[in-house]
Amino acid sequence: MKKTLRLILGDQLNPKHSWYKEPNENIVYVLMEMKQETEYVVHHIQKICAFFLAMRSFSNDLTQKGFNVHYLKIGDATNTHELHKNLEILIEKYDFEKFEYQLPDEYRLDIQLKEYCKSLKIEYQSFDSEHFLSNRDEVEILFKNKKTYLLETFYRHLRKKHQVLMTETNEPIGGKWNYDAENRKKYNYEYEIPIPLEFNNDCEAILKEIEQAGIKFIGKKPKDNLLQQPINNEQAKQQLIWFINKALPRFGDYQDALVYNEPLMFHSRISFALNTKIIHPKEVIDAVETAYYANNLISISQAEGFIRQVLGWREYVRGIYWAKMPNYSTLNYLEHNDKLPDWYWTGDTKMTCLEQAINQSLNQAYAHHIQRLMITGNFANLMGADPNEVDAWYLGIYIDAIEWVEITNTRGMSLFADGGIVGTKPYVSSGNYINNMSNYCKNCIYDVKKKIGEKSCPFNSLYWDFLDRHKEKLTKNPRMGNMYNTWKRFSDGEKDAILSQAAFYKKHINSL
Ligand code: FAD
Ligand code: SF4
Repeated sequence: MKKTLRLILGDQLNPKHSWYKEPNENIVYVLMEMKQETEYVVHHIQKICAFFLAMRSFSNDLTQKGFNVHYLKIGDATNTHELHKNLEILIEKYDFEKFEYQLPDEYRLDIQLKEYCKSLKIEYQSFDSEHFLSNRDEVEILFKNKKTYLLETFYRHLRKKHQVLMTETNEPIGGKWNYDAENRKKYNYEYEIPIPLEFNNDCEAILKEIEQAGIKFIGKKPKDNLLQQPINNEQAKQQLIWFINKALPRFGDYQDALVYNEPLMFHSRISFALNTKIIHPKEVIDAVETAYYANNLISISQAEGFIRQVLGWREYVRGIYWAKMPNYSTLNYLEHNDKLPDWYWTGDTKMTCLEQAINQSLNQAYAHHIQRLMITGNFANLMGADPNEVDAWYLGIYIDAIEWVEITNTRGMSLFADGGIVGTKPYVSSGNYINNMSNYCKNCIYDVKKKIGEKSCPFNSLYWDFLDRHKEKLTKNPRMGNMYNTWKRFSDGEKDAILSQAAFYKKHINSL
């Protein structure tokens, strides 16, 4: 075999990849902590720590199993911090005859590696990352010549393809494909919220190295320098078992619920492990499906509700990403151009719902889906924030944020900046929805029942202002009809007062 250099990117830590069947003395694996990756956006400090910890752990595992690994740390003197330069140096220094890489999930890196390979004088080859349950182009092929890309269609296609929650006659188990309608309960304190599993991964040394390297970051360092997210396959499996035993029995019921000072609720916190490929999505899905068959505490609506997220949404947004990039990253259908308020970076706001979601994100680099969609995303959309800025915020702050899954959720699902590719309507709401799904409003100085006047909930006037200013683009959307009919019923005087209130809040957005 030719002397080969194999590149492992920071989100390619898949221990079951066929590359690792057995060590070969002619193959060297390279992992690199590089400023090109820590600086394309300003990341949360815990995100940088988690990636480096996970990469180091993966490298140690490979070394222990007898694989040759070359690891470049962030502070190493020989590290140029640029992918192609580091590769160039290694290939020349050690006379490699072949270069191999796994297909990256980010468009940016895909282009960079393709360009780099064109310049290579040695042989090269790319490999599938063997992680996803659909191909890069599967969404594009399934929806060829179709105007809309329905998640439900793609999800059913994958349920059948992988025979997940299916009967022998190829029908969905339980008789229904989707139990979404049953999964929108407000938390009622009937069931205790489980205590999160914490891994106490020591990142003191890595924090020092990051600081010495002068890397800019946002967010808070982990409490006591201990990172709580799973960073290797063993920990990810423990997280999965914790989730199945403690949280899955109520996952679907309270999937959309928001509770004061409860950052995790019944969610799995497995996204970092999944997105870095530390754990395979099929392993997660199989474990949940098996638990459903074996355990009568887990109803079909809980199991299906969770599987839809991993097999449905996760694969679907990846397919949209590859179908629509690079144009997707420039879309701004609603022509929003405003700056996000400063408190998105400090958490210093009087609005309880946003204070909770933002401070939790700054403290833990994690927020659950409804916080991301209906609190921070909803507010950013209502106020007219520029999608580029919103994208950078989400891409930086969350530990699981990698562009293929971040941008499709932010620009698509949350901001409707893609004009309706991912979502059939903008996910916007007034304070009423937040009040229905949470106990935030009773802890807030704003009054969720008021649309105008002192202490009126900002979500209320901003919501009607959003609908009014986008009526030309949204009024014909069948899913928005009821909202526009309600707006029409307001008197001109009421409308003026609401729009003036929204204008006042937008002008004073940094002091809300
Ligand atoms: P759970 O609620 O326990 O769900 C289980 C798993 O399902 C998740 O780990 C994730 O892998 C998958 N999943 C759930 N919803 C989605 C979705 N909409 N798209 C793709 N996968 C999904 N997810 C990311 O992984 N990275 C991101 O950068 C990201 N950015 C987001 C930005 C916005 C504005 C929104 C609305 C959502 C975003 N999501 C993102 C999706 C989702 O919010 C997170 O996957 C989830 O909160 C992670 O927490 P969890 O593991 O506890 O998820
Ligand atoms: Fe948020 Fe308005 Fe409720 Fe306050 S009153 S928590 S701002 S929705």
